[in-house]
Amino acid sequence: MKEISCKLLVVGAGPGGYVCAIRAGQLGVDTVIVEAKKPGGTCLTVGCIPSKALIHAAEEFEKIVHMAGGKGPLGISLSTPKLDLAKTVAWKDGIVGRLTGGVSSLLKKAKVKTVHGWARFRDGKTVEVETETGIQVIRAETVVIATGSVSVELPSLPFGGPVISSTEALALSKLPEKLVVVGGGYIGLELGTAFAKLGSQVSVVEAEPRILPQYDAELTRPVAKRLSELGVEVLTGAKAKGMSTKGDALLVETGDGAEKRLAADKVLVTVGRKPATEGWGLEELVLDRNGRSIHIDDQCRTSMRGVYAIGDVAGEPMLAHRAMAQGEMVAEIIAGHKRNWDKRCIPAICFTDPEVVTAGLLPDEARKTGAEIKVGQFPFSANGRAMTKLGEEGFVRVVARADNHVVLGIQAVGHGVSELSTAFGLAIEMGARLEDIAGTIHAHPTLGEGFQEAALKALGHALHI
Ligand code: FAD
Ligand code: NAD
Repeated sequence: MKEISCKLLVVGAGPGGYVCAIRAGQLGVDTVIVEAKKPGGTCLTVGCIPSKALIHAAEEFEKIVHMAGGKGPLGISLSTPKLDLAKTVAWKDGIVGRLTGGVSSLLKKAKVKTVHGWARFRDGKTVEVETETGIQVIRAETVVIATGSVSVELPSLPFGGPVISSTEALALSKLPEKLVVVGGGYIGLELGTAFAKLGSQVSVVEAEPRILPQYDAELTRPVAKRLSELGVEVLTGAKAKGMSTKGDALLVETGDGAEKRLAADKVLVTVGRKPATEGWGLEELVLDRNGRSIHIDDQCRTSMRGVYAIGDVAGEPMLAHRAMAQGEMVAEIIAGHKRNWDKRCIPAICFTDPEVVTAGLLPDEARKTGAEIKVGQFPFSANGRAMTKLGEEGFVRVVARADNHVVLGIQAVGHGVSELSTAFGLAIEMGARLEDIAGTIHAHPTLGEGFQEAALKALGHALHI
């Protein structure tokens, strides 16, 4: 049995783990990272990046199909477009390969040792890794658990056969003719929209009364409208009961208690993700939990000395950029820096059509803090750049305290608004007031002008509406 000793051991090389290891390596901390699959984790291999690649391909294809139907106003016509899904998936796999290779190189450059295999804790300082060449024991002064999350499985719809998770959906070589998506949240709507654009007949079954229930109705209305235009059937307040006996349809209880049969080649179950807490010896550690996730404090410390937890395993929000920020912070703490989690917001984007961005508090959330608020909203129908991109649907909305105008939240829904998330996050992190945003020159013609106008609107003097 081989043994290694190190200062820091990171278990899991997703965005949380690999960023933590790179930063620790940069700071001269002797670091080992263990990964059972590929560096980059869920995000790079079966999550953020492959889904955005598929969404992009679908968007391009749908645009061309639209033009070929002679429906577009741009004066462009084409002959019938065709899709080779296997080629699309191979292109997506190429991007994943480049990125995972890039992470390996960055780890090497930071002098981090990577061990490939499944890690199992013996105690809070020691793990055993099943590698291709046998068991590797690693002893460390400090440990970071970054094991990520896994898809939630519904007891009535176990994964297998036609019932798939997002991982299988991103690797299909043949387009399902009829796709039923269970769960109208982030993954279900991002992928459901992509498959509808690629040509599948898509139905979405959502248990709550609205799709994307964590947002307000105003923000999700343009998404619901576009789904309808794309021919996606959305059943809200509905429960998936299980597959039909033949396995060719999903049986659903609709809101009014009736039973409906939705024919399906594939049923994509996207009802959330849960912290990956099984199979790696969590029971050998004495860690407090928050439900399924590992409880952490504002430095990502667990209840066991020298053991940290970051990313999805430490609970919501399960987002790659939050995992990365935690990873960087923990590496600096371990290297002796004074750091704690003092972020004002974690922006979130749903890459639907149109996209939805939220940073900070929604109007109702801001009201619940007891603060009196001002809300300014500017529609893209009054924005020149949006018009030139055929993207007039949607708006930017700014939520600020009424007394001192400090911005509490910013939301947008619209085509290409994901790129505005940087400006939104920066404004909130810097403690911007409405006057700061209104007084910043926003280049013309851009969607960003909508942000400035929303701040002006909240101040009572928007210029273009
Ligand atoms: P993970 O990325 O899950 O990585 C954990 C790693 O640990 C894995 O590689 C796993 O193999 C490894 N591991 C686990 N246990 C062990 C063990 N015992 N031994 C060795 N290795 C182990 N987030 C966004 O911010 N934006 C998006 O657009 C977005 N899109 C998504 C789309 C999909 C389809 C999915 C599924 C997720 C998406 N997410 C997105 C969420 C994002 O992928 C996660 O929040 C992020 O990957 C979490 O990072 P992590 O480091 O905590 O864990
Ligand atoms: P989600 O929480 O976003 O959505 C799950 C949806 O399923 C909810 O709307 C919920 O009401 C519904 N639901 C739950 N049980 C159901 C049932 N039995 N029948 C019908 N509907 C049911 O979860 P997700 O879409 O699986 O994504 C998981 C996580 O991954 C997200 O919370 C997010 O943290 C991350 N993610 C982020 C992005 C992004 O940032 N763009 C993209 C994809 C995933």
